[in-house]
Amino acid sequence: LTQACIDAIDASGALNAFVHKTPEIALEQAAAADARGYADAPALNGIPLGIKDLFCTKGVDSQAASGILKGFKPEYESTVTTKLFDNGAVMLGKLNMDEFAMGSSNESSAYGPAVNPWKVDDRNLTPGGSSGGSAAAVAADLCLGATGTDTGGSIRQPAAFTGTVGIKPTYGRCSRWGIIAYASSLDQAGPMTKTVRDSAIMLSAMAGHDMKDSTSADLAVPDFEAALTGDIKGKVIGIPREYRLDGLNEEITKLWDEGAEMLRAAGAEVRDVSLPHSKYALPAYYVIASAEASSNLARYDGVRFGERAPLGAGDGINEMYEKTRAAGFGPETQRRIMVGTYVLSAGFYDAYYNRARKVRTLIKRDFENVFADGVDAILAPATPTPAFGIGEVSDANPVEMYLNDVFTVTLNLAGLPGIAVPTGMSSNGLPLGLQLIGRPWEEADLLNIAHSVE
Ligand code: GLN
Repeated sequence: LTQACIDAIDASGALNAFVHKTPEIALEQAAAADARGYADAPALNGIPLGIKDLFCTKGVDSQAASGILKGFKPEYESTVTTKLFDNGAVMLGKLNMDEFAMGSSNESSAYGPAVNPWKVDDRNLTPGGSSGGSAAAVAADLCLGATGTDTGGSIRQPAAFTGTVGIKPTYGRCSRWGIIAYASSLDQAGPMTKTVRDSAIMLSAMAGHDMKDSTSADLAVPDFEAALTGDIKGKVIGIPREYRLDGLNEEITKLWDEGAEMLRAAGAEVRDVSLPHSKYALPAYYVIASAEASSNLARYDGVRFGERAPLGAGDGINEMYEKTRAAGFGPETQRRIMVGTYVLSAGFYDAYYNRARKVRTLIKRDFENVFADGVDAILAPATPTPAFGIGEVSDANPVEMYLNDVFTVTLNLAGLPGIAVPTGMSSNGLPLGLQLIGRPWEEADLLNIAHSVE
């Protein structure tokens, strides 16, 4: 199986999904899995996976798709990947992504864009982002599953664009230790797979308390696969009225209605709910995420990690910082650092950053109110459109790209779990996905509900 994946990856250059291949490690891990035997073996014994480039993997390039981390080979392994390998998983290599996980199309990657294996008239489409390489690799059967991270939709949006399943667990369910930080109060790891069952199995292996991440929750990890009973009778599903945006793509609207009908047919009660502060989520997210990014990315100074730009005679330490950061960070990352620095600056902190934090609380309360009324999960679109073409959303208009995240960022602000699951096709043959949002720590329930519509 591992060899078949290695061969498929070697033949998949056009997708630009794997950016560092590790066939030697994979074959060694596969041999160890065989030696262990498959009776009573750990859940992922011998299962070949791809790892998003944001995860630190010991001795293996971990660049976060950034020029500034070129050549960085960590001395340590992230907690999530350690857990996967302890469960017998095999690492095929590192997967493409948007630089530092900032983006929704994989186009901000220093390795160039990943390509969606789904095409319309041979046109190259994006697999979404930031976990675009993970989504493309799973959709093209280059691996059986992949890790992703989701700060504001980066697991769910690429899953929806590629007909794959991706779950962003409750904030704190998976350890962030060893995952290169983007926005620490939002970042969360999760699996990307072909089916809900595979995501359930992978998530059970990835999750769990970690002393090295003070925000990881000290809670037992359920057997998520055992929760997939297919029985959702009596579950209450909320349809948030505020997500019915004016001019929303007709096919997405139809998909959403069909999803509600499927849940009703399976015995759930479907009712309208209100999340009144939803329209403020996107601006609040981009203020908070950029603020945290500007602080997290201050560590890339040309001294401790990765590349240092060539210096001229007489250049001092300031020139070294400036030249290294100007050359190493791509345009989107520089934009976020500037926005983040601005909203945190003395004169503007209250007007932007503090206000965004207050909005965040209101958004969290909206969800709490809906769940307190007995709603088990919320059904919404994952994305406003199907996959778009590479280069179609222009660099000149970053806000147009940010608008892609309108349905996904809300739950990151509230720390809630969300899953994207493929439920339909567009008229031109592209996969379409819906999103289910669950109560905190109730991923088992969420996976079971998603399982009934996949
Ligand atoms: N598109 C969002 C952003 O650029 C989401 C990123 C993510 O979830 N990592 O911030």
